[in-house]
Amino acid sequence: MDDKTAQLAKILQESDNIVFFGGAGVSTASGIPDFRSSDGLYSQKLGRNFTPEQLVSHSFFMRYPDDFFDFYKKNLVYPDAEPNDCHIALAKLEEMGRLKAVITQNIDGLHQAAGSKTVYELHGSVLRNYCTKCHSFYDADFILAAKGIPLCPKCHGVIKPDVVLYEEGLDEDVITGAIQAISEADTLIIGGTSLVVYPAAGLIDYFHGRHLVLINKSSTPADSKADLVINDSIDKVMREALSSLQS
Ligand SMILES: [Zn+2]
Repeated sequence: MDDKTAQLAKILQESDNIVFFGGAGVSTASGIPDFRSSDGLYSQKLGRNFTPEQLVSHSFFMRYPDDFFDFYKKNLVYPDAEPNDCHIALAKLEEMGRLKAVITQNIDGLHQAAGSKTVYELHGSVLRNYCTKCHSFYDADFILAAKGIPLCPKCHGVIKPDVVLYEEGLDEDVITGAIQAISEADTLIIGGTSLVVYPAAGLIDYFHGRHLVLINKSSTPADSKADLVINDSIDKVMREALSSLQS
C-alpha cells in the first residue's frame, strides 16, 4: 500500500459519515465501458452516423426507437457484469456504519448487487423498465430478449428503460436525497469521474465536511479543492484502503 492509500485509510478511520460519489470509472473493472467511448452507430436506414450522446437522447428515443434499442442493448446493458472491489468495499463501509450513501451516475445496479442499501442513482437503472402506456414493470432480460423495439405484452405500448436520457431532467427525489447526503457528510469521496458531466461538478458545492477525496485515473477540475487526490484504479485503491482499515 502506498502513502496516499494509507492516508485514505486514515481518513476512513476518522469518519462516520462518508458519502461516495461515483462515475463510469467505478464500473470499468466490472467490464462496463463508458458508453460515451463507443463509436456511436451508423444507421443504414437513415444514411448517417450518430454520436453516443445523440443515441441516448430523448428525441432520438421518440423518433427512432428501433435504432435507440439497437445501441442501448449493445452498449448500456451488461447482464453478466459483477460488482468489483470498489462496489464491495463501499458496501462493507456502509455495513460498518461509516458510509451513509452512495451517489452514482452509473445505471448498472452493481452497488445494490454488492449489498449497498442507500444508493442514489442519478441517471436511473437499466434493471427497471416501464411500459409507456400502462406502466407495467419489466426487467432487463425482457428488454434484451425482445426483437427490435420492446413492446408491452399487455397493451402493446413501447417499454422505456428507467434511465435518464439526454434532454430529460433528473428525478427530484433522487437529487434532493443526494444533496442532503452530501451536505451532511464529514467525508466525500469522488471516484471514477472526470467531474465534467452534469450534475457532478455542481454537487461538490454542497459539501462542507472535513475531507474531500478524489480518486480517478486522470486529473479533474476539482483537484485543487481536494485534501487528497489519488490517480489510480479505484477498485485497487478502495480494496487496499479497506483491508488496512479492517486489519
Ligand atoms: Zn403496457
